[in-house]
Amino acid sequence: MEVQYICPTAYDSSVYLVNRKILIDSGMNGNLILKELEKYIKIEELKLIILTHGHYDHAAGAAEIAEKSGAEVGIHKADFKAVNDDRLSVAFLFGEKAPSIKPTLSYEAGDKIPIGNGEFLEVIHTPGHTAGSICLYEPGSKSLFSGDSVFAGGGSGRTDFEGSKPEKMLGSLEKLTKLDVKKLYPGHGGPTASDGNKQVAASYKMFRAMSGLY
Ligand SMILES: [Zn+2]
Ligand SMILES: [Zn+2]
Repeated sequence: MEVQYICPTAYDSSVYLVNRKILIDSGMNGNLILKELEKYIKIEELKLIILTHGHYDHAAGAAEIAEKSGAEVGIHKADFKAVNDDRLSVAFLFGEKAPSIKPTLSYEAGDKIPIGNGEFLEVIHTPGHTAGSICLYEPGSKSLFSGDSVFAGGGSGRTDFEGSKPEKMLGSLEKLTKLDVKKLYPGHGGPTASDGNKQVAASYKMFRAMSGLY
């Protein structure tokens, strides 16, 4: 699996171009991402944008990118509508209205998304940060695209937003500790190449310790 890491501004989510035709998250500045993408591909070569969840900073750019490329947009069924809701998408935090993205594919746990070269991404449903948060696992390279569920260094996304399911987060993180993860591609910050298992375990431990306080 070939991955390019794209990060246009500090406010956008991390964006990953996979096998030169699939985008994982879109950031919120579609025009800036399009410029970055054009360094690697012709924009019409982009076939699919997978959103790890429906938050504005991960999803808003998808409207413009999908329109220019003709790519499909996929998201977990539990965030399918949230992405167009001002509050559930947290667009208001950015002083914006929810974008008018039209997702065309809805995912559920266990779906295998083909990404070319005989490879696929497995959809792992990890509710907590949002109801429809997903992580994507590529078993060949033991890579995990972790959205806002796991950050490098042992963090995880907030669970106090409208639409968050804090009571589900611990179970979601525990599920991720069962995977064999080498490379971690988080929703904020750059990828880490080798010790994914450690990062996932640290996030689980940290969240468990914090949730024990409530
Ligand atoms: Zn988020
Ligand atoms: Zn985020």
